[in-house]
Amino acid sequence: MSDFRDKIRRITPYVPGEQPKEKVIKLNTNENPYPPAPEVQKIKEAMDCGTLRMYPDPNGTTIRTALAEYHGVTPDQVFAGVGSDDVLATAFLTFFAGGEPILFPDITYSFYDVWADLFRIPYKTCPVGNDFRINLDDYKEPNGGVIIANPNAPTTIYEPVEWIEELVRNNSESVVIVDEAYIDFAPESALPLLKKYENLVIVRTYSKSRSMAGARLGYAIASKELIDAMYAVRNSYNSYTLTTLVEDMGAASLKDEAYFKETVGKVVATRERAKEKFRELGFICPDSQANFLFVSHPTVSAKKIFEELRERKIFVRFFNKPRINEYLRVTIGTDEEMDTLFKNLALIIKE
Ligand SMILES: *Cc1c(COP(=O)(O)O)cnc(C)c1O
Repeated sequence: MSDFRDKIRRITPYVPGEQPKEKVIKLNTNENPYPPAPEVQKIKEAMDCGTLRMYPDPNGTTIRTALAEYHGVTPDQVFAGVGSDDVLATAFLTFFAGGEPILFPDITYSFYDVWADLFRIPYKTCPVGNDFRINLDDYKEPNGGVIIANPNAPTTIYEPVEWIEELVRNNSESVVIVDEAYIDFAPESALPLLKKYENLVIVRTYSKSRSMAGARLGYAIASKELIDAMYAVRNSYNSYTLTTLVEDMGAASLKDEAYFKETVGKVVATRERAKEKFRELGFICPDSQANFLFVSHPTVSAKKIFEELRERKIFVRFFNKPRINEYLRVTIGTDEEMDTLFKNLALIIKE
């Protein structure tokens, strides 16, 4: 006799960072400590709930046009989705259908292997060096596709555009996805490479640099051909993924470049101070180009620090995984939040 339970799809899901209801210093999910641009608030104030009776625009014209203008591409080169997680999942489903193993680093965003498992995409992970650097030579073998986060998470390491170009050039027979979730905190995006390479897809999010994790908005930029393929896949399971409100908020955020530069600049300045502070306390701290740090203490275990900080209502991220279980991922908060963190860390380490 067969059992209905045998027909259920079983998968070990991605585990997101906690969203505690109580008030804590929250440095565990790489959110931005500053609010979104004031223009975004105005969209919410002006919203007429009467419009909710209608479906939103299935083509996302408002946000795609605004993003195209902002990035100097055409609207048909933009795919918009429910956070970049949705965009990346759609990209996996669309571009990694060749049957050969896809390649990504062993230490990277922990959603990649989950999507590969869910969509039955074979994959091979390539070990990063002990300095967490990705070795370009590992990505020279035949493959079904490549996905790299730059800066990488949780390692914080950034590779320059020439490095990405070599990766894309070496893999002209597959689609290369570059997940630029943190690129606004780093020197330079790989976007200009789109003019030269048809197999490149760049994925971005509003969640980090634009302080809009709660809105759920992310996007991909690529050639029209690849974007059309993504929409065909998305329209085969859900054609209304974005709401009008979120599209309008996303477009509004792009209008205030001064505010954007100011808040990103503040996060970067705090990050640079935080690097020094961690090092003064004896931590190893790779040279982050993201809005978080990846730190390890030579004598006090990461798990112990994580638990002690939690007791003190300071949340950071601890991954109980091989190679990185002596590291903590710490989001850059306000200067005040970081001062509280360092005061507490000093006490924990002295004990
Ligand atoms: C945060 C993050 C994302 C997803 O963010 P969304 O909130 O879904 O846009 C994607 N990739 C990496 C590497 C991230 O850290």
